[in-house]
Amino acid sequence: MRYILASNNDHKLEEFRALTSTLFELVGQQQFNIPSAEETGLTFVENALIKARHASKLSGLPAIADDSGLEVDALGGRPGIYSARFTGDAATDGDNVSKLLAEMSGEETRNARFQCIIVLLKHELDPTPLIAHGTLAGEILTEPRGQAGFGYDPVFYLPNLNKTVAELPAQEKNEISHRARAFHQLLSLLE
Ligand code: IMP
Repeated sequence: MRYILASNNDHKLEEFRALTSTLFELVGQQQFNIPSAEETGLTFVENALIKARHASKLSGLPAIADDSGLEVDALGGRPGIYSARFTGDAATDGDNVSKLLAEMSGEETRNARFQCIIVLLKHELDPTPLIAHGTLAGEILTEPRGQAGFGYDPVFYLPNLNKTVAELPAQEKNEISHRARAFHQLLSLLE
């Protein structure tokens, strides 16, 4: 079955392709020249639905979208749904990580988690979307480590593996990530 993946983030498309392999044929929305949807929701669920509906409407295909982000306990759950835009609309991953480290400077409580919601819409006006959720718990380091992945991976430390997510090979990240966990839940909803 062919689905549009409602994201312009190449890293996410790569991770999703590795997860879905032969189960789904995923087409990135860039192939349809679909611009990013405006994420006006106040929850990961609302934003994932907005993105999926937008991509499905403009492509005519069933859609899969994720909305994900980092929740940091010491920051009251920020940046949360604003993770990609932590330093503004033109934010780079580097800008966002620097701001996070600055805000966490001197902070002893370093607990954090990645959240991911994945939605699947059979068509633009699907009234019963499938909604799946995955999380990954870890701690925020005081400086970046590792080159792999994207976003906050270099400062997201996994104590049981003694590595940041950016120090994990892509395949290993894809076995434990919030996105992988949400995707496995989506598969069980589809069954
Ligand atoms: P979205 O594309 O609107 O869902 O924004 C997700 C943002 O959350 C990304 O731009 C990253 O800043 C952060 N994020 C989500 N998933 C990951 C991940 O797997 N690693 C690192 N950062 C992530």
